[in-house]
Amino acid sequence: MKKCVWCKQTESEVKFDKQAHTIPKSLGGKNICINVCDLCNEYFGNHDNRLPPIETVIKETFNITRTRFLMNEQNIGKNKPLTKFSSIYFKVNLNQNKPSLSIKQQYGYDREFQKKIGRQIKRGIYKMFLEETERQKKNGHDIKFDFIRDFARYNESDYPVFYFERKYGIIAISMDWVKSPSLFLSGDYKMKYLIKHSNFEEFEFLGHVFSIPTSKDWNLYWDDYLIQTSLAKKNHFKSIKLINHFNDIDLALSILND
Ligand SMILES: [Zn+2]
Repeated sequence: MKKCVWCKQTESEVKFDKQAHTIPKSLGGKNICINVCDLCNEYFGNHDNRLPPIETVIKETFNITRTRFLMNEQNIGKNKPLTKFSSIYFKVNLNQNKPSLSIKQQYGYDREFQKKIGRQIKRGIYKMFLEETERQKKNGHDIKFDFIRDFARYNESDYPVFYFERKYGIIAISMDWVKSPSLFLSGDYKMKYLIKHSNFEEFEFLGHVFSIPTSKDWNLYWDDYLIQTSLAKKNHFKSIKLINHFNDIDLALSILND
């Protein structure tokens, strides 16, 4: 019987008629998590208490990176993976030599808006993780992930997302991953610099390397994790930082110009 990975309700209580894309369809995502009910699925695509929809924020931000990769391979245009780049929130210049990114003026006046975008990016990253781990490993209902439900689905509390800054502008990524982005979880690592740790999960998404805790009491394990992950990353990454703002992620891939 289907059981929602977010609200924990079953087929006898709620509907499961709609297909829940783990990664937004508008970003080329193809994977479906069957254990997401229609109400929770809708939640991620709608405004909640004047917060921009999580799915829209994820699409808006990572579409910039995706476009940058597709551009290099001339994959934008009629009958191509992306017809035309457009953005609701961002003013984007993807000039190969000097890409730049800022928030559109009508949103720029709202000081709180950038903070909201930052929070929704983090919630969206946890959302993609939980649905993907459920899809790939059938472990999304584990109670250790309850804090992810509280944060991503119910907007409670705050949890970190870490970002690894690259040292060099060389990103090994296949065009298939760009056309339909996936999350590769531990055990399925394509990259040697990603490590497996019992209280953190590392994954690469559209060339960006992220890490999130998989335990509510993550600070207890932080020192141990930091030593291990820093060692594995030292040849390819220069730092690890906490995401608060969309600019904390190199969305326009300016590293490729260095
Ligand atoms: Zn649900």
